[in-house]
Amino acid sequence: MGEFDLIRRFFTRPTPRAVLGVGDDCALLQSAPGMQTAISTDMLVAGRHFFADTDPQALGHKALAVNLSDLAACGARPLAFTLALALPEANEAWLAPFAQGLLALADAQGCELIGGDTTRGPLTICITVLGEVPAQGRTALATSSALLRSGAQAGDDIYVSGTLGDAALALRALQGTLLLPPEALAAARARLERPEPRVALGLALRGVASACADVSDGLLGDLGHILERSGLGAEVDLDRVLPLLAARAHFAEGVAQFDQRYGIATAQQCVLAGGDDYELVFCAAPAQRAAVAQASAHSATPVTRIGQMQAAPGLRLVDGQGRSVAPQFASFDHFSAPKGQPA
Ligand code: ADP
Ligand code: MG
Repeated sequence: MGEFDLIRRFFTRPTPRAVLGVGDDCALLQSAPGMQTAISTDMLVAGRHFFADTDPQALGHKALAVNLSDLAACGARPLAFTLALALPEANEAWLAPFAQGLLALADAQGCELIGGDTTRGPLTICITVLGEVPAQGRTALATSSALLRSGAQAGDDIYVSGTLGDAALALRALQGTLLLPPEALAAARARLERPEPRVALGLALRGVASACADVSDGLLGDLGHILERSGLGAEVDLDRVLPLLAARAHFAEGVAQFDQRYGIATAQQCVLAGGDDYELVFCAAPAQRAAVAQASAHSATPVTRIGQMQAAPGLRLVDGQGRSVAPQFASFDHFSAPKGQPA
């Protein structure tokens, strides 16, 4: 199967929303009046971001999901994407399920495949997504309704969507550094391999959230981006965050059994710094609590209030009573202090 056969068979589809899709030197999109285009690229490299023998259908899903997650974080509506593929060989038994997983999510999110590039090389998937956000003017950032990392105010509530840390837990189990019971592993593995981008929540949060980011590298790191871009610090309630590790509830005797078996440090590390969650972390003024609840209900996406933005720089962990908590895992210092200051 040659390059063009491969593109025709697996990656050429009708693109009713694009003026021109796959087949020419460029694709063409008609920009809508009053809209800004949101653009983001993410690359997945075998051996670095996924195991080379990962189920290709799940991989197709995830490759697009991680990109859609960036659009979600901006509150952008997905429009189209391009797909650059490096493949060691043209293996149909791999390509067919990969395309199926990819295009099923594309259809579900109304995001059209409009072009790409295909070459021989170590398995690498690079996707660029295009989305749109309403804007009054064409140039000023101030007129954009995109959610940014930079808009948070001191006193804003901090929220996170869905669950956290299960993907990181599954990764440890798959790498063999931790043994999970089959049921807990299956649930955690689904979070690692089939993340659901929070596009509907991102859209619902436009005009409600003051700042937003997606959680791809771990909650503290990604919340850290909001702190840095907003020039603020934050307090995060560990008693509200730890229960977001869904795997803990899978144990017959509950949370205590999980913590006893794996150590509280493992739970903390997965939840706070695990990565691969593809949830949204966002801020909103306390006056917006009802609006946040409405956005959550409207998008059928659970959200949990986990802390508060503060003027003092740095990230502090507290318990439910507001008492400072010493984190149990070693790399916490990496997150706790603003850059250039001692922890
Ligand atoms: P060029 O050489 O001009 O870059 P190509 O010959 O590489 O174009 O690609 C031919 C057409 O197929 C282009 O429209 C390109 O966007 C599209 N294409 C190539 N690879 C892919 C892919 N993996 N998925 C979707 N479209 C692709
Ligand atoms: Mg080319």
